[in-house]
Order: sequence, then C-alpha cells, then structure tokens
Amino acid sequence: MIDLEAAREEVRRRSAPPGRGEEIPLGDALGRALSEPLRADRDDPPFDRALMDGYAVRSEDLPDAPRTLRVTGEVSAGDAALPAVAPGCAVRINTGAPIPPGADAVARIEETRGSVEVLRAIARGADVLPRGALARKGDLVVEGTITPEKLAVLASIGAHRVKVAPRLRVAVLATGSELEEDPSAHAIRNSNGPMLCALLAGHDVVDLGVARDEPRELAAALRRGLECDALVTTGGVSKGLKDLVRGSLESLGVRVVFHGVALQPGKPTLFGEHPKGFVFSLPGNPVAALVCCDLFVLPHLSARSGLSFEGALARLEGRLVAPVRGSPDRTRLLPALLRRGELRPLPWRGSADLYTASRGNSYVILPPDGDFAAGDAVSCLVPARHLLSVWA
Ligand code: AMP
Ligand code: MG
Repeated sequence: MIDLEAAREEVRRRSAPPGRGEEIPLGDALGRALSEPLRADRDDPPFDRALMDGYAVRSEDLPDAPRTLRVTGEVSAGDAALPAVAPGCAVRINTGAPIPPGADAVARIEETRGSVEVLRAIARGADVLPRGALARKGDLVVEGTITPEKLAVLASIGAHRVKVAPRLRVAVLATGSELEEDPSAHAIRNSNGPMLCALLAGHDVVDLGVARDEPRELAAALRRGLECDALVTTGGVSKGLKDLVRGSLESLGVRVVFHGVALQPGKPTLFGEHPKGFVFSLPGNPVAALVCCDLFVLPHLSARSGLSFEGALARLEGRLVAPVRGSPDRTRLLPALLRRGELRPLPWRGSADLYTASRGNSYVILPPDGDFAAGDAVSCLVPARHLLSVWA
C-alpha cells in the first residue's frame, strides 16, 4: 500500500500536458490554457492618446496662464485627420483621440473657460497616455489560463483565434451488478456515474453508463473507455470475488502504477497507465469515489489540460470547532465545512454517506493517529469548485 502523498506524486508525474494544441475562436476560449504566451502585435496605445475631454495645447504656451488661446479645430476618438496645433492655438479634443501634431498636453475642460481661456499652467504630457505606455510591440502580454480579463487582452492584440491545450476525452464507467435504474429490493441506483460526469464537466465526458460484474460485459466497456485520454471507473476494485476491474484492465494491457492507498476513504483506489492514456479505478462507495476524484482525477486532468495540478485542490487552514480522531494506519479525509477560517467536521456515517458529504466544501486532513482538539488549527483540502464558499 502506498501513502497518500506518494500516490499523488505518482499521478502528478504522469500529468504533463500533451505537446499538441488546438486552435479555437477566442469566443470559445474562456477557461482554456494558452499553449504559448502571446505578444503585443503593436504599441498600445498605438498613438499618444488624450485621457480627458478638453483642449490639446502646447505646454510651452502656458507658463504664465491664465492665457487665451485661439481654437483652430477639434479632434475625437477614431479621427484619422489631425489638425496641427500652432503656437498660441488649441484644438478641442475628446477622450481617446490622438494628440494632434504640435500639441503635447491636454488642458481639461474644467481648467478652461469660454473658448478658450486656459486658467492654469499645463505641464508637458498632462493627461496624455504616450504611445506604447501600456505595451510595446513584441512585449509578452498574456499567458496561462484564459480569464475574462486575459480574453480582453487577447482581443486587444487581435488574437481572434488562439492555440490552447486540447480538451481531454474522459470516459466514466460505473461497475456493479447491483446498479439498476429502477431498482428492485436488492439493488441500488447508480449515483457515482452522474456525480463523476458532473465533477468532470469542462472535459469531453464520454458516459459509458453501467457495466455489471460480468467479465465479458466489463471488458467490453473498459475497452471502450481505454480509447479515451482518461478512463474513470467506480466499483469492483477491492478484494471481493466479484471485483474484476483490475484483472480485466491488466488483460487489456493496462500497467498498474498503484493499487491500494493508505487512505480513508479510498483505500482500494487503482491508478494505471497504458499507451493511449490513464485509468483511475475508484472504489464504489460514493464518498470514497468523490474524495479520490478530488485527490487524483481532477488534479491530473487539470494539469493535462495545461492548468495546474495543485490548483484543482487547494490546501487551506482552519480552526476546528469540534475534536476529530485519525485512523491508526491511514490518512483520513473527513468531509467538513470551512467558513471564514472556522472548520466544522461533518458528522458523517462512513464512506457511503453521500448525504453528509454533499453538505461539505472541504476535507479535514488527519494524518495516521492524528487526533485534534476543538480550537486546533489544521490543514484541509478545498476543491476548486468550492473555493468561493469558503469566504462567502
Ligand atoms: P465496491 O467498490 O464495488 O465494493 O462497492 C462498494 C459499495 O459501493 C457497495 O455498497 C456498492 O453497492 C456501492 N456502489 C458501487 N457502485 C456504486 C454506484 N455507481 N453508485 C452508488 N453506489 C455504488
Ligand atoms: Mg462491487
């Protein structure tokens, strides 16, 4: 059995983004990772630009202001023809317009009277944003994950199409002969499949539904899943007679990297690799499947999508409001609610207790044998999807 940190390290080492990228329209690129940093295609602003409404003036005309200047024209944002400003003259100018030749400053409208007396001396460059002040042509201006702000930068440098890390195809398969849609008395509904599909939203999810614990049916479903960049299964990966997933994967050419993690919940977790991609076989118990998806699957897919492994699951600190007990030989992750620094462990009833886990936003980390008292500051893990709720 491998310990949790070593298991995460094995996954992290196999989470490099693929070299290939895909080119997509900018409008579809929110949240995607740029394959390479991009540069400004020209100076920004591309001309000396007025920052205020007022008059374009020559600062040298105005050391002894107030002074009356002759207004010889006007210029607005988008104008191409620029009336020159001669000595003793001014041109009416609007915010965003290019500073016309001869002028070197803007006298704000509120610093003038009539048409036009400039009331105060105006310093050279006043209320002018010089060409290239924000970016020089060729400067690196945007990289990494495309946020709305970066999308605006991309629009401003004319990147109408962008090269991003490709979306991953991820297959989801729930296994177990007890899984029925309209369950009879001895059967249960499949909650892991819909949960995983939801957790993986953002990737191209291929929902393979349910396979029973029958060798041929299972192998056929796994074979389909192995066509994808990653396959996530639940159930059938412990030591029971009907736990056929590991053997079936191996017969399909999967090499097991680890099987068994010193973790509660989630001990039976298996991680494997094969020429086309990776397999995560998570336990069937719903909370174990949830925790292991957060610990292993989402960080892996995030990193392979060009985003960050660590960013998928933040480590924060909180002050416990109740005591908690570790397990003797395994790291325990306890569903909890972290709000404004206060960490409330949820009174959950084991790894099938999805009801309690569904009210949490984090997991308290309890090292083997680690017992903590109310008031202790402890680490917890917060999935990226819950980060906002920690402060709200
Ligand atoms: P297993 O890992 O196959 O031994 O399953 C452990 C427990 O999780 C059993 O009680 C299963 O019935 C339950 N279980 C397995 N798969 C699912 C699923 N897809 N949805 C809900 N519960 C499941
Ligand atoms: Mg089973």
